[in-house]
Formats: sequence, C-alpha cells, structure tokens
Amino acid sequence: RVQELLKVSHLLQYDALTQLPNSTLLGDRLTQAIALGRRHDTQLAVIFIGLDRFKRINNALGYPAGDEVLQQVSQSLVATVRDSDSVFRYGTDEFVILLNDIQHPQQTQHIAQKLLTAVRATRQVAGHDLSVTASLGISIYPNDSSTAVELIKHAETAMHTSKERGPGDFSFYTETMNLRAQHQQGLESAIRQALERDEFVLHYQPKLDLHSGKIVGAEALIRWHQPDHGWIYPSAFIPVAEDSGLIVPLSQWVIRQACTQARAWQAAGLPPICLSVNISAIDFRQRDFVANLVAILEHTGLAPQLLELEITESVLMQNVEDTHTTLRKIKALGVRLSIDDFGTGYSSLSYLRRFPIDVLKIDQSFIRGLSSNSQDAQLISAIISLGKSLDLNIIAEGVETVEQLDFLRAHQCEEGQGFLFSKAVAADEFAQFMQAGPRTLMPSQ
Ligand code: C2E
Ligand code: MG
Ligand code: MG
Repeated sequence: RVQELLKVSHLLQYDALTQLPNSTLLGDRLTQAIALGRRHDTQLAVIFIGLDRFKRINNALGYPAGDEVLQQVSQSLVATVRDSDSVFRYGTDEFVILLNDIQHPQQTQHIAQKLLTAVRATRQVAGHDLSVTASLGISIYPNDSSTAVELIKHAETAMHTSKERGPGDFSFYTETMNLRAQHQQGLESAIRQALERDEFVLHYQPKLDLHSGKIVGAEALIRWHQPDHGWIYPSAFIPVAEDSGLIVPLSQWVIRQACTQARAWQAAGLPPICLSVNISAIDFRQRDFVANLVAILEHTGLAPQLLELEITESVLMQNVEDTHTTLRKIKALGVRLSIDDFGTGYSSLSYLRRFPIDVLKIDQSFIRGLSSNSQDAQLISAIISLGKSLDLNIIAEGVETVEQLDFLRAHQCEEGQGFLFSKAVAADEFAQFMQAGPRTLMPSQ
C-alpha cells in the first residue's frame, strides 16, 4: 500500500518522459524557497524556458523525435545548473529553473547565456540535423514578487517578450511587460467573444482600372464593431490575433464571409468582380489551409477566379519549400495570388519568378512619397516594369491625389486603390457603386 502510494505520488510529481519534477512540485519547492529566502534575506531567480517552434519539430519529424528533443534538452539543462538548483518540466515545451540564493540579479544573466547554449547543443535527433533554440524569461524574488504563482507568471511573460523580440534570447521581467500582457490577454478574450457574437464586419474598398475608371475588384478589409467602443480597425487587433493564433478562425471567417458576399452580389445581378482577402503568414502555415479554402469555395459556389489572396513578402520567405507547395495548390484551384505591400519586405526578386504570383500591389508608402521623393518615383516605375516583364498585374494602393493618379497612368500602372476613389465601405454601399456604372469613382478632369 505504502509502496503504491509512493508510486502514485511520484507519478503525480514527476514527468514520465524526462524524469524531471513537474509543475506541481515546482509550486511546492518555490513556496519553500521563498520562505527560506525571507528568513535568510536571500534572493531567488525563476527562469522560464520555452522551446522555439517546437510544434514544427513535432509536425515535421513526428512525436518520437519531439520526445527525444525534450529528453536531450532536459538533460542539457540539468547538466548546466548547480546541484542546488532545480529544473522542472512545466508544459509540453516549457521548463522552469529555480536558482536558489543568488547574490544579485545580474548573476543570472550569465546562467541564462549558458542555458541558451545548452539548448543549442541538441543538434541530432532521429538522424536529422536540427537547430533547437529556446527563449528565456527571468523573474527575481523579492524584486518582482514574493509569491510563487506571480514569480512564475512574470517569468513566463518575460519569456514571451523574448520570443517576440526574436527567439533564442532572454529577458528580465519588467512592470511594463505585465501591463502589455494584461492588455493582450483582455484583448485576446475580447476577440474570441467577438467571433462568437458575430461582431466582425467586412468593408470593401474598390479597385479601379485607372484608364476606364471601371471597378475591377475590391479588397475586403475587416472591421470590428464593438458595442461599447464603436469601430475598431485591424491594426488594433490583428497583431494580437496573430500572436494568439486566433487569426486562424478569424481568417476562415473572413474568407467565408467574402465569398458569401460575392455570391450575394452576383445573385442580385451585379457584374462579377474579383474580391481579395488578406491572409497572414500564420494562416499559411496551417496544414489544412488549402483544404479549408476548397471547402469554402464549394460551399459558397464562388468561382475560384473571383477570389484573390493577398499575402506579404514575409510569407514567401518563411519555409520556402512548404510555401511553394501551398502556393502551387492554391494556384491550381484557380484562386489568384497577390503580393501585398510590395517593396517593403525582403525584396528578393528571384522568388517572384519562382512563385506562381498574379498580382503585385505596390506599397502605399511609395505612392505617398511620390511628390516629395524622386527615389520613390523611380522605385515605382521600376516595380511596374519588373511586374510587366514577369507578366504580372500591377496595382497601386493608397492613391490619394490626382497627381499620384497621373503619375501612375503615365507609367502604365493598370489599377489603383485609395481614398481618391473611395475608402472601404459597407457591402450595400459598395453595391451602389457597382450599379452606378463606370467612372463614378474616377475624379473627372
Ligand atoms: P492592407 O492590406 O495593406 O490594406 C490597406 C490599408 O490601407 C487599409 O487599412 C485601407 O483602409 C488603407 N487605405 C486604403 N486606401 C488608402 C489611402 O488612400 N490612404 C491611406 N492612408 N490608407 C488607405 P485597414 O483597413 O486599416 O487595414 C490595415 C491592414 O490590416 C491591412 O493592410 C491588412 O494588412 C490588415 N487587415 C485588414 N483586414 C484584414 C483581414 O481581414 N485579415 C488580415 N489578416 N489582415 C487584415
Ligand atoms: Mg491588403
Ligand atoms: Mg497593403
């Protein structure tokens, strides 16, 4: 009986895979350490370690390989710290280290560096070459808090900050991080709720043929109609949605909504136009992205040629092989692909030829700089001739003045989008634009 009880309690307190004590034991030990620290007037450090992109290793090489990474990493971590310090497995790809009795916070900086190096030592798993990195966050007793729960939470917050800044680094917890984390968490649950309560709306900004003035398409832009705060623009919530993964259901909603709207306009007898939606890099990494796209097209019955996905250059530069495959599949469906904000990203021109792109969308910052900055003028005409030589459609975004329009026309830019013609408007207002016929949005001259 006693043996069994001991066995159960061991199972409850130790992680089977790595043999490390788990988060239950961490709570107990940290509470004890704080009590000791208080009595002896000493400081402690909590180091929160999150492996970077661990899910990707699991997805690419399978769970056994993922497990081996975790085992190797945990061994390196244990080997790096003193015997008096302890390493805990906290979550799937998370570890926490408790450093007892440190003299001053800066001392942990050195240890953090050693831990980062230790993680990088895992290079070979199941016959594959890997580069494993981790991001670290550090909190200090008594500076940052005197409770176990808070010290862990603060270290975790600091770990997330490290991850954002660029993985493979460490940060000490600061008060401002906490404010941001609280804000972010609040926003995160608000976004989740808004999805359930159907508070998102798409507005549509017309794209014009710069010569005929005809509306040739529209970009769907998301807005959040919040009962208490009114309209909220995407810059305020898309980054948080991307950080939290909520962008995935959000983008699914956007695509479905845009396709449904396009069909509704067709049913109302309006001329068919191509609708574009913005897609995040994170969406692109979802294995079922293409399958979901197919399902939405089938369900709504929209012709794939009438849907365009706007992606940024950064999407193209992430895992090149996977991206290439995904793009080809999308292209094979007949869905169009556009590079948004073109010219602001990595500007590696070689990929333009390799990837099956249909449209280049010149970033609005270049259009804005047209009058004041001759370099922008050169850049725009270079982009236009590059696009033409690759047989791509060119569209300018952020067209605000007649001067800009004249320049674009003179340089054979075919299409444009911007406040000069119209901002993004609600669906029924957009339908009126289409009914009104050509040139209604084109300033007369
Ligand atoms: P974007 O895709 O480059 O969209 C163009 C942005 O420029 C839109 O801002 C649009 O309202 C604004 N704009 C259009 N014409 C002009 C102009 O003449 N002058 C100026 N100053 N601005 C103009 P918005 O709607 O606030 O969207 C901002 C960004 O948020 C978008 O940039 C896009 O990256 C992202 N976004 C918008 N909707 C979605 C969405 O449904 N999903 C995702 N993932 N991102 C979205
Ligand atoms: Mg866009
Ligand atoms: Mg853009």
